[in-house]
Amino acid sequence: LHALRSACAKPLIGLVGGIGSGKSTVAECFAKLGCGVIDADAINRELLTDRSVQSEIIAACGEAVVDTAGKLDTARLAEHVFENAPQLRRLTDLLHPRILRRMVDLAKRLDADEKIAAVVLDVPLLAEVGMHGICDAVVFVHVDLPQRIRRLEASRGWDAAAISKREKFQFPLDMKRKMSDHTVDNSQSLQACAQQIGRVFTDILTTVRHRKEGERMA
Ligand code: ATP
Repeated sequence: LHALRSACAKPLIGLVGGIGSGKSTVAECFAKLGCGVIDADAINRELLTDRSVQSEIIAACGEAVVDTAGKLDTARLAEHVFENAPQLRRLTDLLHPRILRRMVDLAKRLDADEKIAAVVLDVPLLAEVGMHGICDAVVFVHVDLPQRIRRLEASRGWDAAAISKREKFQFPLDMKRKMSDHTVDNSQSLQACAQQIGRVFTDILTTVRHRKEGERMA
């Protein structure tokens, strides 16, 4: 994590919230305001297409995660690990160091890009891996569970069970909310969400500027 912090002198903004609360949607709002986004899910998906990563996963998880042709089946993999905590841990141990390395590379590129004002970390387990500790600000995205279920049913065909199966491996939501500096209510329109992000972003930039000025004076 230290490598990620050192890679980027620009403000790092972490997103937390329940599954389907709209973290990626919020990340897009920040992107429109000139932020770079590091999407750990996208990095994860890309890694899963790598042949050597696939072989390591099959070796670790076995037959349960392959299709009839013997290839890694990512839907079966998700089903398998969310029913099996030790396997989820093995998968995490295998993928997380690689994801982090790619995040560091991307952070360096975004830091060097003068058009980018800040870097947003859209990382599903941000708090669980302690990444909130290296962020200049953490934003909690709030949508209540019934509405999250409605949205995820519509977009991904997930039901309440699919959500709770994943959420039980995460910190409780009120804990995530408490470790955050800002809360955004994403239960209304996308426009309402974008307006809140505009205000939060101004706040974050002001706070970071004041802190840096304070550090220079000290
Ligand atoms: P995950 O926890 O799986 O990473 P997420 O928190 O990134 O999910 P999104 O994928 O951004 O959540 O949003 C979940 C779903 O809700 C998506 O289908 C998205 O289009 C929809 N959504 C997000 N915000 C809004 C909104 N304000 N109005 C309507 N639909 C929304």
